[in-house]
Amino acid sequence: MNIKNNILNFEKKLLNTACEFIAVSKTKPIEDILEAYEAGARKFGENKVQELTEKYLVLPKDIEWHMIGHLQRNKVKYIAPFVHLIHSVDSFKLLEEINKEGVKNSRVINCLLQIYIAEEETKFGLSEKEVMDLLNSESLEKLQNIKIVGLMGMATNTYDETQIRKEFKSLKSLFGKLKSQIDKENVVLSEISMGMSGDYDIAIEEGSTLIRVGSSIFGKRNYN
Ligand SMILES: *Cc1c(COP(=O)(O)O)cnc(C)c1O
Repeated sequence: MNIKNNILNFEKKLLNTACEFIAVSKTKPIEDILEAYEAGARKFGENKVQELTEKYLVLPKDIEWHMIGHLQRNKVKYIAPFVHLIHSVDSFKLLEEINKEGVKNSRVINCLLQIYIAEEETKFGLSEKEVMDLLNSESLEKLQNIKIVGLMGMATNTYDETQIRKEFKSLKSLFGKLKSQIDKENVVLSEISMGMSGDYDIAIEEGSTLIRVGSSIFGKRNYN
């Protein structure tokens, strides 16, 4: 894998689009991340709290770190001081915990609500009804140290492009609906995080603002 070329290719591909890429560096060594950094990448994504924290400590401080994996409430405290965006918020309780840690760290922590759009049962996320309830709940307004900036979704892992496109369209349409209906100070919807190495082209066409790409930059992983 030529990491530098891959970064330059993504930069070129996304030029003149409203979409940016997050280099998903999970399982990859510091050297690989530095290579991507030197080629110009500044947004990196990890799915495990410990790995994210370890990498944050040793890497340049102008990196924007994105937490893209399932997050347990008892681990929020480790990433709260520095995380740029948490993509995987899937409950009100988790949001309350992130807010609590935001208060402790005197910062407002940006969050995306993860929506369940796939057919696979294995994926995490809120249903349309759950996200509506969460965003309409009165106690949401009390959480002044979080900001909900958009939605995240993962399409079914399939070669069926029609299916993938349908799922991305459903996320985009939900995003539009929420944007027009929800009027709260800590909900400012601007980001749609969708698209990975196998389906980012479709995601960009369907309105993604953040694609999360790992293997197409760093090569295959040995484990997830
Ligand atoms: C691993 C991962 C990615 C990147 O996957 P690739 O197929 O390697 O691009 C994107 N999003 C999430 C949530 C991930 O866990």
